[in-house]
Amino acid sequence: MAYTGVIPRYREWLNLPPHTQVISLLEGDTPLVLVPRLAAQLGGGFDLLVKYEGLNPSGSFKDRGMTAAVSEAVGRGAKAVICASTGNTAASAAAYAARAGLKAVVLIPEGKVALGKLAGALAYGAQVVQVEGSFDDALRLVVEMTRKHPLALVNSINPYRLEGQKTAAFEVCDTLGRAPDWLCLPVGNAGNITAYWMGFRQYHEAQGTGLPRLLGVQAAGAAPLVLGHPVEHPETVATAIRIGRPARGEQALEAAQQSGGRIIAVSDDEILAMQRLLAEEEGLWVEPASAAGLAGLAAEIRSGRFDPAGKTIVAVCTGHGLKDPDAVLRRTADLVTVPPRLAALEEVIL
Ligand SMILES: *Cc1c(COP(=O)(O)O)cnc(C)c1O
Repeated sequence: MAYTGVIPRYREWLNLPPHTQVISLLEGDTPLVLVPRLAAQLGGGFDLLVKYEGLNPSGSFKDRGMTAAVSEAVGRGAKAVICASTGNTAASAAAYAARAGLKAVVLIPEGKVALGKLAGALAYGAQVVQVEGSFDDALRLVVEMTRKHPLALVNSINPYRLEGQKTAAFEVCDTLGRAPDWLCLPVGNAGNITAYWMGFRQYHEAQGTGLPRLLGVQAAGAAPLVLGHPVEHPETVATAIRIGRPARGEQALEAAQQSGGRIIAVSDDEILAMQRLLAEEEGLWVEPASAAGLAGLAAEIRSGRFDPAGKTIVAVCTGHGLKDPDAVLRRTADLVTVPPRLAALEEVIL
């Protein structure tokens, strides 16, 4: 049967109202890639797999939630959607709104959105508004706007976003035949870790697939869940998780704790080193935030807090590397240029 997107695929598992009218770009069904060379670099002796969510239609996992949020909004007659975004939600909302024939308004923190994400939101025809402030300021404005005006809010405080996003947990279980021992993933506004936990629990209750322990990873400069208090001025190269007041922070902490896992923080240097390692060892290029889960796993193994022996570990890589070319193009300083002569080429290659 032809693939139809996450809502038709998992409809019976999703708590979506009857008026839902499916708007899909055939999101989901992303590869779960074994990464043995990376596992060996981390000490070996365990199975490591990457859920490569950058291969969704707009380049991030946000599409799983957005198909659900926009499908529900269309079904109840909404004419426009609005969201605050560190970038990927904006591109995703813009794409699904275009697909549905709706207007999309996206609020982004001024100057803090990666190039590929801003380009996406513009390409799909959204009205992009920059806010002089952080993501958290933008989200507060969006909430105030939607209280006053008939715009559909499609941030992950919209419960249908989580309904769509939990399909990633279903896919992992369907591919492995059970839940992994550990799942590691980046944590920003904390919708995704909450959704994965919902999905794993639901599948386990219905068909005994087991439960993973969750390792949620924040960037050290934006780690409110590790510090135990909001961060006024979050800073990190991983702009997708540059969030100081996670909307679903309580639920994320609860999910990590219930699972027997934890939420930790890693430095920007650790994140960038992992982004590079994953690309150079395995051919998987992800944006910086997407490497945070793996960077956290590496840190836990290195410190001896975590023994991976014999485990099956899934790392969620949330967005494509093309989203944030700047993170890599800092290295263009090392590019060499040669005159169009073989001898010159031989000299730099051999
Ligand atoms: C949104 C996003 C995250 C964080 O997800 P939350 O649900 O906000 O915790 C991580 N990585 C990427 C690439 C994202 O776009």
